Amino acid sequence: MRKFAVLTEAKNAEVHEGNIPEVGDNQVLINQKTCNICTTDYGQWLGLREHQPYPMAGGHEGGGVIVEKGKNVRDELNVGDHVALAYDYCGECQNCQIGQTSQCTEVLNPFKDKNDEGYYGHLGFANYATKNANAVVKMNKNISFSEIGFLEPLATVVSGMKKLRVSAMETVVVIGAGTMGVLNAQVAKAFGADVIVTEMMDKKIDAARELDFKVIDVKKDDPVEQIKSITNGKGADAVILAVGNTKANEQAIEMVKEIDGRVLLFAAGHPPPSLNVDSNLIHYRKLELLGTYGANIKDFNESATLINENIIDVSKLIEAKVSLNEIQEAYKVASTEGNYRVSVTLQ
Ligand SMILES: [Zn+2]
Ligand SMILES: [Zn+2]
Repeated sequence: MRKFAVLTEAKNAEVHEGNIPEVGDNQVLINQKTCNICTTDYGQWLGLREHQPYPMAGGHEGGGVIVEKGKNVRDELNVGDHVALAYDYCGECQNCQIGQTSQCTEVLNPFKDKNDEGYYGHLGFANYATKNANAVVKMNKNISFSEIGFLEPLATVVSGMKKLRVSAMETVVVIGAGTMGVLNAQVAKAFGADVIVTEMMDKKIDAARELDFKVIDVKKDDPVEQIKSITNGKGADAVILAVGNTKANEQAIEMVKEIDGRVLLFAAGHPPPSLNVDSNLIHYRKLELLGTYGANIKDFNESATLINENIIDVSKLIEAKVSLNEIQEAYKVASTEGNYRVSVTLQ
C-alpha cells in the first residue's frame, strides 16, 4: 500500500491510499522517508493559491531510498542509495537540449494534468513513489532525509544566483531571513560575496546571526541608510528579494548601487506586490531587475555538492518533524508565521 497526503480543499489535508506503482524501465522506486512542506504547499492549504487545483497530492521536497530500479537505469544509481528529487524532464526536446530542463515541453505539468488515479501534484508526501531516474540525484548517506529535502529549494537559489552573476568581494543584501532568505544568503557567501541580511522578526534575526551573517534589524534601523553607511555611501552591488512585498521592492531599488546595480526578484508575494518604479531610473541608473523561478538539472547537481560537502548548512531550517498521519497539524505548523520548514515523516 502506498499512503500519501492530499489537499481536498483549503484547510483540509487527508491521507489517501493506493497501490505501489510499477517501476518502468527508466525509473526507480523510492521509499520516501520525508518530504518537507514548501510555501507552495502550505499556501494552498491556507487558501492563498486558489489557482492550484484539487485534489492536490502535493509535496516536492522529498528524500528517500531506492528500493527497486528499472533495467535501463544508469549504473550510478542502485538499490539502497539515498536520493533527492529534481523536476522531471525528457532530455530530448529543444529546451532540454540547451540545458533548460525546467522548461521541458514533453513532461506532464502536475499543476495542470491529473495522474491516472485522478490527482494533481508531485505526490511528494507519499511513502512510495516512482521517479524517472534522470531526475533522481544521489545524496551522501550521512545527510539526514529532512536535509536531503532541501535540494530542490537550494537548486532554485543556485539557479537565481547564477543569473544574478554574484562574484567574490561583492556586497550582496538579502531581504528576508526565512528559509529561502537564509539559503540565498549562504549561497551568496559560497559564491564569495560579503552578505548582509535584513529582517524584522527576532527569531529569524537570531537564526541568521547564529549562521554568522551581518543582520540589520529593520524594527530598529532603516535598512537603506544602514546599507549606504556600511558601503561608504555606495550601496550594495546586488540585492536579493527573498520576500514578496511592495515595500521590500522599493527598498531594494534604493539600497542597490547607483549605477549597474542588480536586483533579483526571488520570491512571489500573495496578493501580488507592486513595483512602483520610474522607468527612467532603470534607464539612467542602468539597473538590472532580474526574475528567477525553478531550477535546471545542472543546478540540482551543483546543489547536491553544496549539501553533500557541508558547504551549506540547512540543519537550522528544520522547524519540526511531523508524521504523515498528522498532516493537518504539519500544515498548521508549516503555515505559522516565522516558522522554517516542517518535515513530514512518511512511514
Ligand atoms: Zn519547494
Ligand atoms: Zn524536454
